[in-house]
Amino acid sequence: MVNAITECDSHYDGKFYAGVITTGIYCLPSCKAKLPNLENVVFFNTREEAIAFGLRGCKRCKSELFPNVLPNWLPTVINQMKNNPNGKLDEDKLTGMSGTDISTIRRYFKDLVGMSPMAFHRRLRLEHAKKLIQSGDDYFSAGYDIGYESSSGFMEAFKKEFGTSPGSLIDDR
Ligand SMILES: [Zn+2]
Repeated sequence: MVNAITECDSHYDGKFYAGVITTGIYCLPSCKAKLPNLENVVFFNTREEAIAFGLRGCKRCKSELFPNVLPNWLPTVINQMKNNPNGKLDEDKLTGMSGTDISTIRRYFKDLVGMSPMAFHRRLRLEHAKKLIQSGDDYFSAGYDIGYESSSGFMEAFKKEFGTSPGSLIDDR
């Protein structure tokens, strides 16, 4: 195990976890962070044991996301986002439906899709509006359907997301 962490050998990822007592963090064997002083390292066979020992995941190797088991609440949250393109979801509602706290939700979204849950929801809404326009809606009603009160706000958001104006979709139709 010492060899594996010294060589950052990813073959051992998930086979054991290396906890560092002094920092309170546990790592995958492949972690590229600076090798800790070996006398402070404790090895664990499972992630659960490392957590039970009081250690937390490493930001660098994302040890808490390996193996990448997605939390149960995630599909619920994403489905709710898809089913509510009108923009009437906020972070309070996300915590309510998931039963988890907002910082955990934010962290998962950042790791998985590289953006905040609200930014991800906005993207889904704008994609929904794009489909509406492509299937014949004018962009005033498409924008209204996804919760934009003003067409200029919608156009701006749309352009930012897709790099093109909603009007150009109508021209392509
Ligand atoms: Zn690490």
